[in-house]
Amino acid sequence: MPDATHSRPATTAQYDVIIIGAGFAGLYQLHRLRAMGMTAKVIEAGSGVGGTWYWNRYPGARCDVESMQYSYAFSEELQQEWQWPELFSAQPDILKYANHVADRLDLRRDILFDTRVSETRFDEAASQWTVRTDLGDVFNAGFMIMATGCLSAARVPDFKGLSSFKGKTYHTGAWPHEGVDFTGSRVGIIGTGSSAIQAIPVIAEQAADLTVFQRTPNFSIPSRNAPLEQSYARQWKDKYAELRAQARNTRNGVLANPNDFSALSVSPEERKRIYEERWASGGTTFMASFNDLIFNQEANDTAAEFVRGKIREIVKDPKTAELLAPKDHPIGTKRICVDTRYFETYNRPNVHLVDVRSAPIEEITPTGLHTREADYEFDAIVFATGFDAMTGALTAIDIHSTDGSTLKAKWEDGPRTYLGLMCAHFPNMFMVTGPGSPSVLSNMHVSIEQDVNWITDCLAYLRNHRVARIEATQEAEDNWVLHGIEVANKTLYPKAASWYMGANIEGKPRVFMPYIGGVNAYKEKCAEIAANGYTGYRLTGPSRVAQAAE
Ligand code: NAP
Repeated sequence: MPDATHSRPATTAQYDVIIIGAGFAGLYQLHRLRAMGMTAKVIEAGSGVGGTWYWNRYPGARCDVESMQYSYAFSEELQQEWQWPELFSAQPDILKYANHVADRLDLRRDILFDTRVSETRFDEAASQWTVRTDLGDVFNAGFMIMATGCLSAARVPDFKGLSSFKGKTYHTGAWPHEGVDFTGSRVGIIGTGSSAIQAIPVIAEQAADLTVFQRTPNFSIPSRNAPLEQSYARQWKDKYAELRAQARNTRNGVLANPNDFSALSVSPEERKRIYEERWASGGTTFMASFNDLIFNQEANDTAAEFVRGKIREIVKDPKTAELLAPKDHPIGTKRICVDTRYFETYNRPNVHLVDVRSAPIEEITPTGLHTREADYEFDAIVFATGFDAMTGALTAIDIHSTDGSTLKAKWEDGPRTYLGLMCAHFPNMFMVTGPGSPSVLSNMHVSIEQDVNWITDCLAYLRNHRVARIEATQEAEDNWVLHGIEVANKTLYPKAASWYMGANIEGKPRVFMPYIGGVNAYKEKCAEIAANGYTGYRLTGPSRVAQAAE
């Protein structure tokens, strides 16, 4: 971990709300609560704001949602004033933006950095959470909001001999802040997900030699990133409110000019023309070429075969090209990757691809690693091995329920939530973009604002109606979980062994975790539930906040 261990005297304090995490969700949540006149403290493990963009500083880290869309919509001034340098923003620019927002809204004074929440318990009598940290702080608050992020628990597989390696090791999700110079080094990288696909071309340019250990090849589309044209930015800024509203009414929270017809409704020539056009314009909107790519296997096969064809065209060595061409999952059912010269990188003489599906990594050795077939020597190993996604950051905290259990135990067979916002037996605990919400299947900024706005409105409602306690009912939670499974099963997503399914972690239950019904449908559902007085939630007790105000 890049941060030094800080120590300071432990504190005890009382707030209306404790927010955990100072990424984009936590920052906006703090801003909204302050505006309501509530007292809130944000607890953040890192030394700075930005969440995922604070930790993921690996070379090549970049967002795959266009800069003009990957930003807060809540402040017209902010969105008018901020200038993005590139079409797709690089990590340092996004982090700069997060810091700018924190400064501009004067948020830092209510954020406790370098502090990790370790345990939380709900006190039934006082109707409040007691939140304990690794530094011995004890905070009491009526409400607790988990803004812990979906991809924040970085994970290195439990390789035998891991600690024996004498060289340097890095995880893409916890990259040293001072950067890493690989010049002249022999580097091994394990994994070929989004992070690796961005990092590999950059590391390959620096390292003497780069060996990529691939278990599952991924579909990747060129980003066609470029400096952001001022005229393009202007088009967005002139109609920002309208365009943001349109984005909120799409499935993914991204304006992508989707074609609303089937891949099978056009001739093969027309289909190819459309794929070529999308490939040339670049980015994840390739999946919007047709409206049935995630629903219909035959339609999906046409897109998958098109991309495999591109890989075979780009990669000169046919054996390497074949290894890089994904065949074990429908395109888009593992998060589609976006790259800058990823496949081209395999034409470099200093880059080698090793298939660890056929010959798995058996051991990390003092000098490198050993697969079932061969030994490799490295100066540095990069783990681009992903995250305990969606649940890992939450289950890492000892969150006690009111029925004598914990969140970790409750989610042993997969996460269970109502709307991804709350869980039965965890009163007054909200989650921003929790499992069971669209979250990672959407533009995170859109989903964060949706959830933070809903939570804030809910807290205002509780205050106005003098309610101290809100809890999802078991029935509402059960029905939402069933609904989530039903919608997921109408798509091809469950066919892939993806982190959406928990499949990247041995022993993690295979459950499709995000809600795939769409950002638009989810927004309508949340609004309806609130308008009807929070159906599916049990609201009880006189509000302490309201009493205090009297
Ligand atoms: P990831 O997609 O989970 O990829 C992890 C990689 O490590 C996979 O290739 C995986 O292989 C491999 N791996 C894991 N355990 C292994 C083992 N024991 N032996 C060999 N290989 C192993 O993680 P990620 O690349 O960090 O990306 C996670 C998510 O973060 C993305 O899907 C995306 O949502 C987000 N992200 C977004 C961007 C962007 O906006 N452009 C960039 C980076 C990340 P298997 O596939 O076989 O499990």
